[in-house]
Amino acid sequence: MTTDAILHPDFKDQPYWWEAAAPTALDDADPPAHADVLIVGGGYSGLSAALELARAGRSVVVAEAELFGHGASSRNGGGVSAGVNLGKGIAGGSSKSGAQSEIAKRLDTLMGESRAAFDLVGTLVEREKIDCHYEKRGRLVGAYTPKHFAGFEAKAEALNRLCDAGAQLLPRDRLREEMASDFYHGGMTIKQAAKIHPSLYHKGLLDACSRAGVHLCAHTRVEGVTGGRGGFTVSTSKGTVQCAETMIATNGYTGPLTPDLRKSLVPATSHIIVTEELSDDLAQSLIPNGRTISETPRVLCYYRMTPDGKRMMFGGRARFTDIDPKLRAKLMHAMMTERFPQMKDVRVTHSWTGFVAFTYDYLPHLGLHRDMHYCLGCNGSGVAMMTYLGNLVGRRILQNDELDSAFVGLDMPKVPVPGYTGNPWFLPIIGGWYRFLDRLDRMRA
Ligand SMILES: Cc1cc2nc3c(=O)[nH]c(=O)nc-3n(C[C@H](O)[C@H](O)[C@H](O)COP(=O)(O)OP(=O)(O)OC[C@H]3O[C@@H](n4cnc5c(N)ncnc54)[C@H](O)[C@@H]3O)c2cc1C
Repeated sequence: MTTDAILHPDFKDQPYWWEAAAPTALDDADPPAHADVLIVGGGYSGLSAALELARAGRSVVVAEAELFGHGASSRNGGGVSAGVNLGKGIAGGSSKSGAQSEIAKRLDTLMGESRAAFDLVGTLVEREKIDCHYEKRGRLVGAYTPKHFAGFEAKAEALNRLCDAGAQLLPRDRLREEMASDFYHGGMTIKQAAKIHPSLYHKGLLDACSRAGVHLCAHTRVEGVTGGRGGFTVSTSKGTVQCAETMIATNGYTGPLTPDLRKSLVPATSHIIVTEELSDDLAQSLIPNGRTISETPRVLCYYRMTPDGKRMMFGGRARFTDIDPKLRAKLMHAMMTERFPQMKDVRVTHSWTGFVAFTYDYLPHLGLHRDMHYCLGCNGSGVAMMTYLGNLVGRRILQNDELDSAFVGLDMPKVPVPGYTGNPWFLPIIGGWYRFLDRLDRMRA
């Protein structure tokens, strides 16, 4: 098919999820002059912290520079899982720096907490009655090479021991039980994994915050913060707020407000397409057990069916720079048909992009920076984790920092590129190299 032929006449360069819940100003409130806590950023992490604090009686402002839902929280794939990617790249390797061995020591507890993160999403959905197609249908991780499949044994053991994840190996000759393709060299199924409609989940958290009395201020960019704990002055595009605590929850959209935090974060785009409605036979055959699917190469793809079961949502990295939406759709379509050749004539209705934030140690972090709380660095997997870390920051504020967690006290390392200030000019080079290595691994296999 030519580029234009794979585009449906109704093709849109915006998230499919926004058909059900688009970014919103909600109350469109102006920030009050005083509050207990001001949170910068209105995605899952900021809202989840705000909800926890407001339910405990604190007055809370969430300042969102754009509409609520502008960031990754309304654009993601909606895969919810515990621990699968946590500490990637840490466990292996013989020479470890001090920080790495500290992480290796804590990896078991970090993994245990990732299960708490997974459970928290289910709890919030139920408690706040969020109608977001939360379905606990499990995940399939496809092995890109036989060596990756061999590595699944240890991975499944760790996931089961630390997260009670219900992980099981799926040899290649049984792959078709889970997907209508022979693309992978076997897989690992994980029972404790779910999928949601991401922007409905975000909207549900937003509504819960509104009910709890949070001041939700859209179009309110935080431009400067002075002072310290107990007495901050926060300048926003809509006026000044005096508050006792401040939290930075800007993840892949972290900007000039916190230049030092930017030095630890690599913002990277992730791209998604959604197809037109498929024929019933095709739709039901592709992923018969309704799993979300991810895979093991360095540059990976992730995919699932939409909540109505009629379309495929396919995500990954078309390129490592911003590209034309039609080219993006074409590249993602090619990746999809590499895995499912039977979809070559299926057209794309939606294609979009959003920012995630990577850290040098592949771990999300929370801590204090210039007296401001922060939780940042989702590493591409933050539906559960950023909800959890936001909630944790909220609970730590309520308990005067006394609540412990394996995430507390792990410094967020700077990106070791001389002169790095937050513009990841090197991504196309490293990403291209990783893709080359992936192809080589695959060819050898
Ligand atoms: C395409 C894509 C697919 C993904 N798929 C998955 C998946 O399947 N599963 C999974 O677990 N994770 C996935 N993720 C990651 C997940 O979406 C994120 O980890 C999560 O949404 C981060 O939430 P957050 O609240 O930390 O940040 P965000 O939701 O990105 O919100 C940050 C907000 O901060 C605001 N902001 C920035 N600066 C300021 C300022 N100065 N003043 C006020 N506001 C400011 C921004 O406008 C933005 O709205 C995906 C991400 C993307 C982009």
